[in-house]
Order: sequence, then C-alpha cells, then structure tokens
Amino acid sequence: MTWSVDELREAGRLTLDVLAEYVEASRRGQEPAVALPPMDEVEQTLQLRSLIQRGGLDLHRLPAFLRSYLDGTTRLHHPGYLAHQVAVPDLPAAVADLIHGVTNNPTAIYEMGAAGASVERAVVTWMAEKLGFDARRGGGVLTHGGSLANLTALLAARARMAPRAWTEGVPGDLAVLAPPTAHYSIARAVSIMGLGARAVLPLPVDRLGRIRVAAVAAAVAAARARGHRVLALVANAGATATGLHDDLLALGGTCTELGVWLHVDGAHGASALLTRSYRDPLRGIEQAASVTWDAHKMLRTSGLCAAALFRDASVLDAAFHQEASYLFDTQARAGVDTLRHTVECTKAALGLKLFLNLAWRGEQGLADYVERQYRLTRDIWALIRSRPGFECPFEPESNILCFRYGRSGDRQLALREALLREGRFHITSAQIDGERFLRLTVMSPATSVQTVEELLDEIVRVDDRISAGGVKPASLEQRVPEPREVAGS
Ligand SMILES: *Cc1c(COP(=O)(O)O)cnc(C)c1O
Repeated sequence: MTWSVDELREAGRLTLDVLAEYVEASRRGQEPAVALPPMDEVEQTLQLRSLIQRGGLDLHRLPAFLRSYLDGTTRLHHPGYLAHQVAVPDLPAAVADLIHGVTNNPTAIYEMGAAGASVERAVVTWMAEKLGFDARRGGGVLTHGGSLANLTALLAARARMAPRAWTEGVPGDLAVLAPPTAHYSIARAVSIMGLGARAVLPLPVDRLGRIRVAAVAAAVAAARARGHRVLALVANAGATATGLHDDLLALGGTCTELGVWLHVDGAHGASALLTRSYRDPLRGIEQAASVTWDAHKMLRTSGLCAAALFRDASVLDAAFHQEASYLFDTQARAGVDTLRHTVECTKAALGLKLFLNLAWRGEQGLADYVERQYRLTRDIWALIRSRPGFECPFEPESNILCFRYGRSGDRQLALREALLREGRFHITSAQIDGERFLRLTVMSPATSVQTVEELLDEIVRVDDRISAGGVKPASLEQRVPEPREVAGS
C-alpha cells in the first residue's frame, strides 16, 4: 500500500493552492474570522460519516473537500482574530509540519531520527541561553504543549523534594504555592501527580491577580507551620487572562532565601526575552529553577511546540524514574535519548518548527514580530481608553488586553456572544477580581488599530441593539460556551 511520489507532488500542489487562497482571503478579512455552525451541520456538509464508511476522497475531490473544511475553521490569519493565544503560524513552521508529516521521525529516541533529536537539543539550548541559564548546566526538553511542560517541571520539583514518590507513592505533606491566576494546567498537574487538588495553596495577590511578593515569606511560613513541604512556587509570566507578569526579580530572591523551587510559567510571555523594548517584566527569570515556554504562542509555530527548561538540567534525570529495558538500555550511544525526560514516547519533531522559523527569519525576525504585536496592543489600549463608555483595567504588558463597555458583566458576555455569531471578530472574555471583562489577544500580523476601531464601533452598535431588545438571549443549547478564561491558549 504505497502512493506514488507524483501523487505526493500533486497532493501538495492542490493543497497548497487552496491554502494559499485561504490565507489570502483570511488576511483580507473577506470571510468570517470565526464560524460556529451546529456540529451536525458540519458533519453533513463535510460528509464525514459517508467518507469514513465508503471512502472515495481522492486527488480530484480533495480541493472541494478542503475548501469546505476550511469554511469551518477559525481563521487565525484574519485581522478580526483576537481570541486565544494560538500562534498565526509563520511559513517556515508550516513547512516543518509538512516535513514531519512525510518523514515522521519521533525525536525521543536518537536512533529514530538523529536530525530531529539534534535540532531539539539545539533549540532547547538556545532557549535556555535566552533565559540566562548557565550554558553548561541549563537545558530541558520539548513537550507537546505548555500543560505538559508544567507537569514535567513540577515532576522534577517533586523528585527533588520527595525522591521516593515515584516508587512508593506520594507523601501527603507536599504543597504547591500558586496565585489563583495561574493557568489551570498547574492545578491539573498537581492532581495528576497525586498530591490532590487541595495541595495547591493560593498565594496572596493584588487586585490584578499578581503575587504580592511582600506576603510570600509569610505564606511559605504558614504552609510550613501547617506541616506542608513546599514543593514549588509558581509565578506567571504572564498570566493567561491578563498577560500581566509577576515580579520575577523579587520572587527569585525570596525563593532563594526560603529554599523554594521557583517555577515560572512563561508559556506566553517568555518570548518577549527576544525583544529590546518589552523584556523588562521578565527580569529575574534566570533565577527560576524551571520555566515553561511555548513556541506555539509567540514564536509562530503551529501547535504544539513547548519547552520545559531547567536552570540545572540534571534535575530532569530524576523526574521520570522508570525502566523499560527495550528502550532504556545502557549501551553507549551516538546521541541523546530524551525519552527518559518526557511523558511522551512517540514525540513529534517539534523542534524543527521553531528551528526553521529561527533559521529563516533570524532571531531578529521573531523579535520584530513580538515587538510589533506588543506595541500594537499598547496603541489599541490608548484607543480604547479614548472612547467614551469603554474602560481598561490595566495597561497591557504583552499582547493581551482587557476592557469593557459599560459595567455589567452579563452585558460583556452578551456582547461577546453577539460578536461570535456575526463572526467578523473573534474575542474572548476574562474575569479580573470577580468582574467580567472582554479580552483581546493580538496575535495576527493582519490586525491593525483600524481593525479595533471597527470592533469598537461594532460593540457600540450591538450594545444598542441589545438595549433595544433586538438581540434575544440565546437559549441554553445555543449559547456559545464561554471557555474558562483560565483555559487560555
Ligand atoms: C497557554 C498557557 C498554558 C498552556 O499551554 P498549552 O501549550 O496550551 O498546553 C500554560 N500556562 C500559561 C501561562 C499559558 O498562557
């Protein structure tokens, strides 16, 4: 069962032609940024069931199928795409996905792909250097996503504090201190590790959800007084809902003094290290014991490409204590098997996406993108503040911005729902200090200040219509579900 290489060329040409039209139309904002037809309708249009049962999709039918499929996508290249922290992929990263699709070399075992494994080591080394880790001691591993990177980091922290947990089970006294604004994957990792959700102890935060550093020593002391051993303290860089950063410089000092493992969740924000103008909130990140950094957010790779990075990479050796003789043999090898450092077994060639972006655009090219999006977000902030009826709860530190029109939380949700239905703009909402705001994540290079001017006009119009009773609240089934604001991405 094989295909001819001419078919590969033809499939590539047909697919790329349709994708090129798609990107072009999306960038021009011609099609809706988001389309949410009922799931059954999509299944019908795409003839999913009959294609599964009877097959028949071939090169002739591929372009038509692909066009229908793309009609059901959320268009990240669209200027009105302002929703989740998902990269608008750069071209080299898209090429990397195709290369992996054909070669399929898993990278966790060196003998299954020397090139991919070497690329992974090179990009991980680059990331560790960017963090300011010592080049000889720092390192880490790529994972399928920041959630797994957070789990990997906390597992390493657990192995340091409770080395026997792997074989004997988890002691009941371990705790993780985290601000309530931490990404939900932190609490999930703690539960997966068997500590129980109650082992996440909330750190005191200010009104905007940033850790109150002055209160950290007391929080650690209180936890210890209650018999907890503090496995790690988690800080945001930046927080998913707001993009705001905890004071890493001060936290680094405090954690060193207290002997606490500092884990910085920089899934979104760490990429600003490449910039000149916006890296200030990351000062002190080199003091972290571990850092999570997603390339599929601000470094423009498709999902997924994330890293768990460690100031002292040897801690990873203890994180996954397990023997599998057919994989973990002790023979001397040409390269490194990262298998012993990851949850994943068949791990994709994630590093190639980031590597090709770097090799093609240069570090400066990626920096320019981050700079542009961060600067644009400040311009958008200034615009929103200048419009009557709108307010912003904070000055953005990244490309995430919150605002509201009027004060009612229900009204913000109704506005978002109405916008999603129209599809020109895709935005989210978030809760800050118990109040509901609308939230923009400015990911698309096609977005401009003009785009947001149009969005604000649209919000005013929709708000008038809601007030006049022209927009009925959706019935329960039709409601567009609000992704948990902490769900991010
Ligand atoms: C997006 C995000 C995550 C989760 O990363 P995934 O790659 O989506 O698993 C974790 N932490 C923060 C702060 C994030 O913004």
